[in-house]
Formats: sequence, structure tokens, C-alpha cells
Amino acid sequence: MDIAALNSTKTIRNHVLKWMCVCLGFLSLIFAVFNLSINKSYLVGGLEIAFSALCFYIFNQLTKHYQKDWYGVALCLTLSFIILFGTYLAPFENGLFLWSFVLPILYYLLLGRRLGFILSATFLMLQSILLVYKSPLLPFVSVNLILNLLFIYISLWTVSHIFEGNRAQFSKRLKNLALLDPLTEAGNRLSMSHYFEIELKDKSNLYLFLLDLDYFKQVNDKYGHDIGDKVLVELTSLLRDIFPSGYIFRVGGEEFSLMGSFTSAESAQAMADKLIKEIAKKQIEIIDETITLTASIGLVNYQQHQSLSEFVNLADKELYKAKAAGRNCVFTNIN
Ligand code: GH3
Ligand code: MG
Ligand code: MG
Repeated sequence: MDIAALNSTKTIRNHVLKWMCVCLGFLSLIFAVFNLSINKSYLVGGLEIAFSALCFYIFNQLTKHYQKDWYGVALCLTLSFIILFGTYLAPFENGLFLWSFVLPILYYLLLGRRLGFILSATFLMLQSILLVYKSPLLPFVSVNLILNLLFIYISLWTVSHIFEGNRAQFSKRLKNLALLDPLTEAGNRLSMSHYFEIELKDKSNLYLFLLDLDYFKQVNDKYGHDIGDKVLVELTSLLRDIFPSGYIFRVGGEEFSLMGSFTSAESAQAMADKLIKEIAKKQIEIIDETITLTASIGLVNYQQHQSLSEFVNLADKELYKAKAAGRNCVFTNIN
């Protein structure tokens, strides 16, 4: 299972960041040599060397798979500062301010919609003040030029905003399609592997409740598959109500895996008892009847370094005992 594909946003951002670092690192070095040797702008040249060093440092870290959230922010902020500072210091004719157009695209690609919007707006405001102040042209020519620059910047900003908004939305929809069971909207097996790897296994005192409905086949046989489906949907929402802090996955037809942290074995056991009791109490209304059901649960505690399949297999053994003991009960290996 390609679980990394589910974190597409992070993967894309790291790729963009890595190759932008190479590109900007080399460009900045070239500009630094030019500024130091020909323009004699030592301050700008020095800043460009420092920026280039930052770019190569981030590239090197990303190559070794050391990823930190601040890399993207640092790259965007330092580049913005150099462009603003360069615009302020360098002669207008150098056209350094034209680099402003790269920024909205970079902000949105690396930092997403919210930060992209804030930084694009802040940069536009600061750069506009600098350009009005710096422009050596006649007021009329200057207004024309600044309006053109402004419209180009706003066009690129708008495109970046719409693109990133759509990309984020589609990425979320694809993730939901991949991770949610279409009938009950509980997580599916892939979702269980995904969340187990990225957050659950690092939680302290993690418990797994493997829950299977008793004699569910009889519901299908007696009332039909559609009513069986309705029961599964209602049961899932009941599980959410009883165990709101839990992660709920549908791992088989009428089998659910619930995971969550508890401060003690007693409180986990109390949750399992509550689940059994509330499910047995639940009355599911169909046309002219009500259906009641029971469930059996195997409850286990996560031990460090266990794999997900080892963890689930242990719970499955307990569930099997609960079924063999007559159903509608909890079996556990916790003390
Ligand atoms: P036990 O107490 O031993 O668990 O008995 P059971 O009848 O619940 O278990 P069994 O494995 O014999 O049957 C499970 C049934 O779940 C069989 C299948 O028709 C039903 N089922 C599986 N997936 C779905 C589904 O998506 N919708 C509906 N309506 N039924 C499903
Ligand atoms: Mg069953
Ligand atoms: Mg089953």
C-alpha cells in the first residue's frame, strides 16, 4: 500500500522546495558574483551569498530526508526580504523588482492558501510603497508602469490562489475517497494502516477494540441487504456517539476496529462494556418493526514495536473467545 501517496501535499511541497533551492541557490550565486565584482554592491552581494548558502543547506537536508516545516517559510521570507531590500538599494533600471512576480507562485506552492494570501498581500503593499518612492520616471509614466506591474502581480496572485485552492480541495477529496468506507463513512483498512503509522502507534496507552456484530447474516436474510446496510450506517453513528475521541474503522463487512488512548486498563474496559451495553439497547427502526442487535468485542493494549497485524491478530483472538463464549460480551488480555 502506497501510504505516502496520501500525504501528497507534503510530498509535492518538499519536491518544489528542494528543486527551487537548487535553482535559486545557483542564481543567487551568479547574482552575488555580478554584484560584488561589477556593481560593487557589497551588501546585496553578501546577502545573496547568505541566501545561496541557506538554499544549499535546505537542499542538502531535504536530500537526506530531514524535513522541517520552517524550511519553506525561511526560503520565502529571505527571498522576499532580498527582493525588497534590493529594490530599495539597486537602481530602478536594474529591474530587480521584476523578481516580485515569482513570489506569489512560490508562496502558494510552498506554504498553501492561507499563508500564501497573507504573504502575497503584505509583499504587494511593501513593494508598492518602495516602487512609488523609488520610481525616477515622470508621474504619468510612473503611474502607467506601476499599474501594469500591479495587474501582472494580481493576475499571478489570483491564478496561484485559485490553483492552490483547487489542488488542496481535490487532494482532500481524493484522500477521502481512498480512506473512507463509502457506506458508513468510517475509515477503511487503508485508513487504519495510515493512521496507525502516522499517529496512533505513538500514542501512549493505545487500545484496540475489535468489534463484530452478532448473527448479522440473519438481519440480511430476514430483512434484505438494504436494511442490513441501514443497520451498519446507524451502528457507525452510534459508535461515534459512544466513543467520540476514538478512531473508527470498518475492517470487514460487519466488523469494526476502534482505537483510542485510555489512562488505565479499567477505563478501556469500561468503554468496551459501554459499547456492548449501548449497542444491545439500540433500537433500529425499519418500516413497521424495530431491530435490535448485539456485538462481541476483543480488547487489547498496544505494546511498543508491535506491528499493526500483530496488534489486530491479538484482538482477533480475544474476539474469537467472546464469540465462542456465547457472544454479546468482551474478552481481553489486559490486566
Ligand atoms: P457471528 O455472530 O459469528 O459474527 O455471525 P454473523 O452472521 O455476524 O457473521 P457471518 O460472518 O456469518 O456473516 C456476516 C454477514 O455480514 C454476511 C454478509 O451478508 C454480511 N455483510 C457483509 N458486508 C455487508 C454489507 O456491506 N452490507 C450488508 N447489508 N451486509 C453485509
Ligand atoms: Mg458477525
Ligand atoms: Mg464478521
